[in-house]
Amino acid sequence: MRGGKELKEEVQDKGFCTLCGLCVGRCPYIKSLEDKIAVVFPCGIEEGKCYAACPRTFTDWDTVEQQVLGDVDGRDPLIGRYTQVWMARGINPELTRGTQDGGTVTTLIRTAMAEGMIEGAVLTATSDGLAPQAILVTEAGEIGKTAGSKYIAATTLQALHQARRTGVEKVGIVGRPCQVMGVRKYQTVVPEECNQDNTLVIGLFCMWALSYGFRDYVRQEAGGQEVTGIAIPKGELQIKTADGTITKSVEEAKQFARSACNLCWDVTSELADISVGAAEFAEGWNTLIVRSERGWALLGKALKAGVLEIKEYPPAMLQELRMAALGKKRRVVAELNRIQNEGTSMVDLTSPRFKSVVEGEVN
Ligand SMILES: Cc1cc2nc3c(=O)[nH]c(=O)nc-3n(C[C@H](O)[C@H](O)[C@H](O)COP(=O)(O)OP(=O)(O)OC[C@H]3O[C@@H](n4cnc5c(N)ncnc54)[C@H](O)[C@@H]3O)c2cc1C
Repeated sequence: MRGGKELKEEVQDKGFCTLCGLCVGRCPYIKSLEDKIAVVFPCGIEEGKCYAACPRTFTDWDTVEQQVLGDVDGRDPLIGRYTQVWMARGINPELTRGTQDGGTVTTLIRTAMAEGMIEGAVLTATSDGLAPQAILVTEAGEIGKTAGSKYIAATTLQALHQARRTGVEKVGIVGRPCQVMGVRKYQTVVPEECNQDNTLVIGLFCMWALSYGFRDYVRQEAGGQEVTGIAIPKGELQIKTADGTITKSVEEAKQFARSACNLCWDVTSELADISVGAAEFAEGWNTLIVRSERGWALLGKALKAGVLEIKEYPPAMLQELRMAALGKKRRVVAELNRIQNEGTSMVDLTSPRFKSVVEGEVN
């Protein structure tokens, strides 16, 4: 029996919260401000949905995966279940304006709305180029405003409750891997509030998200110039301003990586319908992993509408992506073991999913 009190003690007080935003907005006693989520009143509910759906309480990965992607045959121990990996990019300039890499995510969300797959989308906007804001978008023309990555962790999922409250039934969500897990756990715990059949989940790749200290750092580096975007291509941090791009080492950004990200096993949003990351070897392109039938349907619609192009993914680059995922998974399992020894069990580390990675059985 666990609720808000335990969520506070076991997740927030220990610094494990990912700032996914799922508990915020569902419960009037949970509030967020920048890097913090706080349970402001111990509600006393014994079986709190906030606790059950939190991506940082114990998660039975095998069960959730089976429920979401059970009919997908191929399973890669490093990038999850999927049917196909492509290079992709948006080809309608009206849809790709201001996007981060190839504009695939914005193009797919626009397509999903245009084709009636979704009525609204839970996305992440910004007003200053840095601080993220959760937003529910119900007008196709508004989607472009959310283009581009905000590397500071965003409580995006709070807008999911806004969708429910305002009667948006078919909803699209774009989120980091922790947010994808939050949505999937939510679907298993309260299916009547977030029905799997009515939800499209587009997951981003993510190694880490940053704390708000990054905003202060960037503002200082930009010296008062307006920040128009941030890019983190291999080894580099690019601060884009109206006057040009300031280039730094990626290590400058990494110092603001949230420690909670050291516990995130998932690099490629393994439980999404479609996952999208940068194709770091080809500027202006994305890596696109199609996982579910819903993901296939969306890709088909985007191709038919002529707004997206795809091409074969180079096998050597896929192996590079897998090895990057393996490196992170090994570091994370070490951390998960450490916190387990201190009394917090977040996953079943004896499951083959985790053991095979540690014992070097995958390559
Ligand atoms: C914190 C973070 C870390 C990332 N790390 C990696 C990485 O290590 N490797 C990699 O290949 N790719 C990473 N990405 C993904 C990458 O930056 C691009 O989002 C992805 O390649 C899609 O590009 P696009 O041009 O299709 O996106 P766009 O078409 O520009 O769409 C961007 C989408 O991202 C959403 N979004 C923006 N910021 C956030 C946020 N903070 N939280 C949730 N959603 C957000 C917006 O709502 C929008 O829908 C990361 C993204 C984020 C937000």
